Order: sequence, then structure tokens, then C-alpha cells
Amino acid sequence: MTDQNVVEKVIIIGSGPAGWTAAVYAARANLNPLVYEGQPTGGSEMIPGGQLMFTTEVENYPGFPDGIDGQKMMAAFRKQAERFDTRIVSANVTRVDLSKRPFTVWADDDSTAQAHALIVATGASANWLGLDSEHRFRVAGLGVTACATCDGAFPRYRGKPVAIIGGGDSAMEEATYMTKFANPVYVVHRRDQLRASKIMQERVLKNPKIKVIWDSVVSEVLGDNKNGVTGLRLKNVKSGQQSDVQVSGMFLALGHTPNTGFLDGQLQTTDKGYIALQDPYRTYTSVEGVFAVGDVADSVYRQAVTAAGMGCKGAIDAERWLAEHGID
Ligand SMILES: Cc1cc2nc3c(=O)[nH]c(=O)nc-3n(C[C@H](O)[C@H](O)[C@H](O)COP(=O)(O)OP(=O)(O)OC[C@H]3O[C@@H](n4cnc5c(N)ncnc54)[C@H](O)[C@@H]3O)c2cc1C
Repeated sequence: MTDQNVVEKVIIIGSGPAGWTAAVYAARANLNPLVYEGQPTGGSEMIPGGQLMFTTEVENYPGFPDGIDGQKMMAAFRKQAERFDTRIVSANVTRVDLSKRPFTVWADDDSTAQAHALIVATGASANWLGLDSEHRFRVAGLGVTACATCDGAFPRYRGKPVAIIGGGDSAMEEATYMTKFANPVYVVHRRDQLRASKIMQERVLKNPKIKVIWDSVVSEVLGDNKNGVTGLRLKNVKSGQQSDVQVSGMFLALGHTPNTGFLDGQLQTTDKGYIALQDPYRTYTSVEGVFAVGDVADSVYRQAVTAAGMGCKGAIDAERWLAEHGID
């Protein structure tokens, strides 16, 4: 698929909403993009199509009034990119050289490619507890998730108890958000004080629908294939005592890890490890000709529609940058 003697105009790394949208725009601008869509690897959460491959229902992407299955949605994104002759390599990029142009990309199918411009769209993976029971209910879409904004309004949580796991600002945000639907909302935190900012803590501690369970970790997610999550087994880290709490869902708020390992520090990142954008309205990174789009460069919104929007911006930025450099 890749021709080592050809310098591509643009290579896109990643195949979530950001990567495929960048591909559609770049292809329609005659940039003939090459997309590295990734490949499942042992133990990794990264798969072609990105995070939406793990969700059964996307209800908030405009244009789908009845909602759409995440896998179907990503198949449609891919098909749309292919319609405009996007070329696709089913491999993970393992290494890049951004020290000189054209940039070089190496992948785990032993392919190498060169490009004048690169668009990085590799997403950010949610941090999970790592329990087998957590994984089982998560992939089945039966009550384990890392996104309250995405899944909180689902009927299974309405009027039911749920648990948020974590003690930072995002846990406080998720807990406060979930009080719109669920009751009570437990915040399970491993310490005896929260890490969140004072103002966020106060909002949570004053909310009568939220109950904090201190000094506790989840040792097992309880439930069955029919009902999904029905409860959590908690362990008090000080006393060692186990107890069960009844919930219909577990929302992880343990942060995200941006997928930037293959960059080996060649792009500037924020203090949270996201690719730093040089201008908040554009997708320029610290290396000229390299653009970053979607969750890998967005610690704030992390939604499919914002990722797709950034993908569009990245392709337009790349197109204009290439034109400015006489490459069209
Ligand atoms: C369970 C769940 C449910 C969600 N539900 C919703 C929802 O209902 N609505 C909503 O708006 N958002 C939802 N989100 C959030 C949404 O999925 C993300 O915001 C969106 O997918 C981000 O898009 P992205 O393209 O930036 O990254 P991702 O979707 O994460 O895609 C990144 C892609 O890059 C690839 N990749 C990574 N590293 C490499 C590499 N080295 N080489 C090649 N490829 C690589 C991965 O395989 C993947 O294909 C949900 C998230 C989760 C986890």
C-alpha cells in the first residue's frame, strides 16, 4: 500500500471521528490522503474506528435523530472517506521522525512512508480499573462507562443509583451531571479527601443527591448478562472490610491517557500529556507541518462531534499550509 519512493502530501494517523473527518476533507481537497487506521494489539484498547467502537448507542451526534450504534457510525465514517479515494493502511504507527521534512512514519506492518504534512488523530484512552468484571460489562454496554455526557441519559440510569469512581475535578463534574438523571449518585474515592478543586468539591459535598464513599476501592463489579451492572463490591482500604452497594451503573472518572507514545516526545504536550496546540482556534502543533486533532489534543470536550470538527479544521489547516509551501 505504501510506496517508499513517493512523498505523500498528507498522512493521517488514527481512524476515529477526527481521523476520518480529516480524511474526507483532505481527500475532497485533492490531497490524496493516506490513513493509518491502527490495528488491534494484545491488551490495547485502541482499535480501528476508535472509542465509539465500544458503545452501543450514540444519541448526541447530530443527524441521527433515533441514535446510532457506535460501530455502524464508524463504518459509515470510513466508507465516506473511502468514497473519495482515501487510502488506508491497517497498521499502528510505531515511530515517526519529525526532525526534518518530509516526515517519516514507521508502522508495525513493517511499512514506512513519508509525507509533507501529518495529521495526528490518535485519541485518548480512558483509564480503567482493570477488573475482568469491569471489562465484561463495559464491552457489552451494560452499565460501565467512562463518559457521563455520552451515556448518562440512557434509561438504565434514570431514577436509579449510580457510582462515579474518582476524586478529581472530572469525577466531581460527572457526579454533578449525573444528578440530573440518577439518584443517589455515589462518589467512590480511595482516599479520605478529594483531589478536586475547592469549588468543585463544595458543589458535590452540598448536593443532597451525592454521597461520597471514602477510603474505598471497587474490588468487583456485580451483575449478570441480562440486567447488566446491579452493584459494586467495595473494599475499605483502611479496615479491609468489604461491602456491596447497589447501583445500575459505574462511571469511571480516572482521567485519560492521550495516545502519543509513538511520537517519542517530538511534539510539545500540555501538563496533562495532550498535544499542545499553538493557537486554540487552529490545529498547529509545535512542529510546522504537523497538525493534531480530536481527543489527543483536547482534554476538555472529548466528544465525537468536537473530534470530527477538529478533524475538519486539521485538514483545512494542512491544505493551506501545503499550499503556502508550494505543495498542492
Ligand atoms: C464508551 C464510550 C462511549 C462514548 N460515547 C460517546 C457518545 O455517545 N457521544 C460522543 O460524542 N462521544 C462519545 N464518546 C467519546 C468519543 O468516542 C470520543 O470523543 C471520540 O471518539 C474521539 O475521537 P478521536 O478521533 O479523537 O479519537 P478516537 O475515537 O479515540 O480514535 C483514535 C484512533 O486512533 C487510532 N490510533 C491510536 N494510536 C495509533 C497509532 N499509533 N497508529 C495508528 N492508529 C492509532 C486508534 O486505533 C483509533 O482508531 C464515548 C467514548 C467512550 C469510551
